[in-house]
Amino acid sequence: MEPMINLTDLLKHEILDLYSAEEQIIEALPGMIDKAKNPELKKALREHLKVTQEQKRRLDKVKESLGEKTEQGEKKGFFSRLFGGGGEKCKGMEGLITEGQKIMKADITDEALDAAIIASAQKIEHYEICGYGTARAFARELNLPVAEQLLTQTLNEEYTADDLLTALAVGKLNTVAENATKEADRNRGNASSDKSSKNKSTKSRSLKPGNKTAAKAPAKAPAKKAAKNAAPKSASKKSAQKSSGKNTNTRSSGKSKSSSRK
Ligand code: FE
Ligand code: FE
Ligand code: ZN
Repeated sequence: MEPMINLTDLLKHEILDLYSAEEQIIEALPGMIDKAKNPELKKALREHLKVTQEQKRRLDKVKESLGEKTEQGEKKGFFSRLFGGGGEKCKGMEGLITEGQKIMKADITDEALDAAIIASAQKIEHYEICGYGTARAFARELNLPVAEQLLTQTLNEEYTADDLLTALAVGKLNTVAENATKEADRNRGNASSDKSSKNKSTKSRSLKPGNKTAAKAPAKAPAKKAAKNAAPKSASKKSAQKSSGKNTNTRSSGKSKSSSRK
């Protein structure tokens, strides 16, 4: 009779799943970088490719710390039979990537293409955040501090990547040329040309700072800056977008307590 699955088995399964996910992301990102039009988005994705390669290496360290050989072990067959079969390829990540690629291949405007890439990338990040958050909670529960620390490091990187994508998306939405033009029309006679050029410069500025580094706070800054400079009408729209984005990300509660499964 086969032994019952315990939390250690689940942790190993989660690690293998994440390993496969990272491998697939490394394979998919170059195509997304290629397709992206916005230079800031391209740059962000390129950065994350480097980070992702490091995350894969970090998972090797986690495996080592769990006493798992890098080669195929018996456990792998055991897990693949149990969790959906078909080897250990992460089907969740495969699905997310396939969906994203389908849209990227469609006949689509540049702006919509970038928005689609951001959406796809954020779904990928959220999957990873969930996986790493869960794995870390298991590691903590099992009192495996080395694994816990390594998983936390990657988890934080995934949050940072997600924040940066949100900043890019919100920054863009807030300063869509359409809005700027509408505002300029409304305020015509009120030094309107001045205003619209101001909005334009806000756009490029607002996209830059968050992108410079993947450090914690700056990702939020651009959106705030844009909010300050924007006309009141679009400002309210903006905060709605912002908070709805937050809800989807469950970022604020996630960052400190994503191991809530404990
Ligand atoms: Fe990752
Ligand atoms: Fe999976
Ligand atoms: Zn990631």
